[in-house]
Amino acid sequence: MNDYMVRATAADAQIRAFAATTRDMTEAARVHHNSSPIATAAVGRLMTAGAMMGSMMKNDTDVLTLQIKGSGPIQGITVTADSRGNVKGYAFDPNVMLPPKNGKLDVGGAVGAGVLSVIKDMGLKEPYGGQIELQTGEIAEDLTYYFATSEQIPSSVGLGVLMNKDNSVCCAGGFIIQVMPFIEEEVLDRLEANISKVSSVTEMLKDGHTPEEMLKQVLEGFEVEITDTMPAQFTCNCSKERIRKAIVSLGKKEIQEMIDAAEPIEVNCQFCNTQYHFTVEELKEILKQSK
Ligand SMILES: [Zn+2]
Repeated sequence: MNDYMVRATAADAQIRAFAATTRDMTEAARVHHNSSPIATAAVGRLMTAGAMMGSMMKNDTDVLTLQIKGSGPIQGITVTADSRGNVKGYAFDPNVMLPPKNGKLDVGGAVGAGVLSVIKDMGLKEPYGGQIELQTGEIAEDLTYYFATSEQIPSSVGLGVLMNKDNSVCCAGGFIIQVMPFIEEEVLDRLEANISKVSSVTEMLKDGHTPEEMLKQVLEGFEVEITDTMPAQFTCNCSKERIRKAIVSLGKKEIQEMIDAAEPIEVNCQFCNTQYHFTVEELKEILKQSK
């Protein structure tokens, strides 16, 4: 696994920045779900953002969920991440195919109109949540809008996934640049000028840019200090025991119906597509634990 992300500050901490290379986690998601290029790109973009946004959380046990629900054929995407670079994600319909738009994968068309929810579970009674209307469905623009409106942090988000001709993932990655409230006007002007002329994330990745080099390009002319480097990876923490608990929570009536069907059942983990099997005997045991 070669995925990693960096955190940095620039211009005397008036700017904070994140960048990641996420080819391997995106390819892992593609293999788990045997997903189409457009679904792989959509999930890869959201997982890349998830990795970086997860690393903004403070505690090891904090969990970030990014959820998109849209009117397009992909229907939705769910990604979760912790603060240590463990990310997983899936598209509701991983088989979506659409013609390219302007020579690119039409992620916006696959997602359609809808909402993006950001849920941070930090072990408090109520998880923190923010929700916005999707702006383009291209994900990076939607997250930029989320940061501006829900967190009041002016940000620039760039995300990219490039596929090989054989439909495996060539490269994936992205950056998040955020400015602090005390930013000086000339620093902001310069940053905005940089961002307007920076090449796309996929261009930078295709040219072999590392996360550090991506930040160097976006933050050209600033003193950049890399403060942290962290590995990132696709990790699913599912297990038969977790699936068993999910079945218990369905309630007696539903479990009894499964038992009455007299057939073993098969449950797929949505995140990694692993199949778990339960015999009728096991279901009877589960029924005893259920309320
Ligand atoms: Zn799983």
